[in-house]
Amino acid sequence: MLTPTEQIIFIFMLLGVGGLTAYLFYSIYKIISSGRAAPPLSNLVPKFITAFVDVLLQKPMFRTRPILSTFHAFIFFGFSFYFLVNVTDVLEGFVPGFELIYGGRGLVEVTPALAPLVNLGLVNLFNLTADILSVLTLLGMVVFLIRRFRGQDKRLRFNESVLLHPKVKKSWIFIDSTIVGVFILIHVGSRFTGQALRLAEAGQSDLFMPFASLYANLFTGLSEAASTGSIHLSWWLAIGLILLFLPYFARSKHIHLMVAPINIALGKQNARGTLDPSVPAEAPPEVEPGAKVIQDLAWPRLLDSYACIMCNRCNDVCPAHSQGSSLSPAAIEINKRYLFNEDFFTLAGGAISQKPLTEHVISPEAVWSCTTCYACVRVCPVGNEPMADIIDIRRRMINDGDEIDTGIQSALESLGKNGNWFNKGSRARAKWAKDLDFKIKDVTKESAEYLWFVGDTASFDARVTPLTQTVAKVLQQAGVDYGILYKEEKNSGNDVRRVGEEGLFEMLVEDNLAAFGKSQFQQIMTTDPHSLNALRNEYPQYGGMWRVHHYSSILLELFESGRLQVKNKLGHYRATYHDPCYLGRYNRGYEAPRKLLELLGVQFTEMPRNKENSYCCGAGGGQIWLGTTPEGERPAENRIREALSTLSVSTNGAGPTPEKVLFVVACPKDVVMYTDAVKTTGNEDKIEVRDIIQLVEEAIGGAEAQIQAVEESSSELKVAA
Ligand code: SF4
Ligand code: SF4
Repeated sequence: MLTPTEQIIFIFMLLGVGGLTAYLFYSIYKIISSGRAAPPLSNLVPKFITAFVDVLLQKPMFRTRPILSTFHAFIFFGFSFYFLVNVTDVLEGFVPGFELIYGGRGLVEVTPALAPLVNLGLVNLFNLTADILSVLTLLGMVVFLIRRFRGQDKRLRFNESVLLHPKVKKSWIFIDSTIVGVFILIHVGSRFTGQALRLAEAGQSDLFMPFASLYANLFTGLSEAASTGSIHLSWWLAIGLILLFLPYFARSKHIHLMVAPINIALGKQNARGTLDPSVPAEAPPEVEPGAKVIQDLAWPRLLDSYACIMCNRCNDVCPAHSQGSSLSPAAIEINKRYLFNEDFFTLAGGAISQKPLTEHVISPEAVWSCTTCYACVRVCPVGNEPMADIIDIRRRMINDGDEIDTGIQSALESLGKNGNWFNKGSRARAKWAKDLDFKIKDVTKESAEYLWFVGDTASFDARVTPLTQTVAKVLQQAGVDYGILYKEEKNSGNDVRRVGEEGLFEMLVEDNLAAFGKSQFQQIMTTDPHSLNALRNEYPQYGGMWRVHHYSSILLELFESGRLQVKNKLGHYRATYHDPCYLGRYNRGYEAPRKLLELLGVQFTEMPRNKENSYCCGAGGGQIWLGTTPEGERPAENRIREALSTLSVSTNGAGPTPEKVLFVVACPKDVVMYTDAVKTTGNEDKIEVRDIIQLVEEAIGGAEAQIQAVEESSSELKVAA
């Protein structure tokens, strides 16, 4: 129980600090709401319930780093429970006789209404929980502080070339973490010490406060004055300190405690593969697309920066950051946050930032390093979307005619002129089909069940066209009723949209939808995950509503229905499989390729990074068009090494195990990327890249000639960098 003077001081502190904190939090609200409008929110109640359960179970944290996540969970549970503990401590300080130690045995006399809680043992349960969580929180915090102080966790560092706010460069994240860490140690440690002092003063341990009872042994023999003084001091260090600390939360990364659950609940509203519009739906015509300054971003992207834990989990999975580039998805959120802190009151007052994002948040070079693989978004424990910022910045750079990579520039020019990025006339699109000994239907002239949207790489790249022909033959053999658009097909626009060329994307969509409109088909299939994503997730916004399938699902269905049959089991292959980002992470197409491999009898081993956690090949988001090859180990090379260590191979088919070792893919771009990576890493004698269609053809019979043709074709061609 506090003295009257202490009570008055506390009430004044509460009013003063409470008012200041409310003002700061209102300012944060003003800053976040200064962002552009976002697509309307829907189903908020179920989303908040799911977010609440996920946060309570700490599910998003455990996507990676399980050991650190366990210690984080200790702090999370402890600190969350301490909201309740703090309330009861304040009551103990103000309400005579309100004491919870020893099961709250004196409580009933003071507050008879609380008798049921005491009789049910709830006070004991509360004490036990607080006691255990105090120790776990302290343990977790010590581990995190050691991790920060020892500074040996490379995951907390950034590549040299990453653009960082000057304060981040000057170790402000470290300072902030230290301040908050020490605060938590003092806050929780003082409360825990206070409980031990009270038990020591009463001269009796409490079965439901085992750790505090043990700790109390240190304080036996204290004089009454020393004991009372220490109990009061510990109360102030625990409760008074948290009051003083509240305003600091507004500037600290630890505001994530409050913002992260909201951010998770308000997270991406549409499908992973659907981008938000480049200007808000109701925006006046003068609003330019994309983002130049921070308030050009939609408000949820501003909220992201307040939710960010600054944990760098997104850097861990970013193929560009791992390659050593200047792109760091974590730095985007961190820089945004420091920008807000820097101009806090002016931005909260309604000023528009004059600081270009490409000078203060992410360098132009980094903007063009993103493969749009979605790994950073998927792994972020608080639901941040740094990739969305990058695409918005690209949109504005393209709109403003800023200088961009020459390779991307010429790919866009070709796409605008020819509808493909191979700089070929539209009549060359179906050249691959001319060599077949049967005619593929033209769906613009005759009806078919499936429209096969072939895609640019599968249509034009000579390393891939033999595989396209194999797909055609297998479908023919299975009696699938399909056709293609021939010269009417244009690039789906998936990657065009992701490099930020909204106008060209819309033109391609329009042209393709016009071609679809004059065709007769029921469903769409494609071998290209990028086209699959655009057709499935982007085209519906423009009226293109069809069921869109990846060929792996179609093939599986053909086997399951008996229209294709395995004649030759492929047990002589040891293989792993690479999930393409736009089939896997974006569209959750994980099962069909794996079931196919199982059905074909391949000896299959999963790589450590698989399915949701798959690693990007490095081609997406326009990266395959880059005119310059970034330095460092390319993502595809890194992936080939992962496959080799997974399959522990020495020499392919000629070593102690005679099986052939395969890297199986289900994406035309992956055929190109990984065939190249096998060569550049010097592993041609250890592993071979095969498209899943080659295995299917071999299993159903008559594949040898086809495989030979592909190999001959590959060896004749110089692989592009
Ligand atoms: S989308 Fe992929 S490449 Fe782009 S920032 Fe995120 S993790 Fe990195
Ligand atoms: S964006 Fe997400 S994953 Fe990246 S540092 Fe922030 S909280 Fe961590």
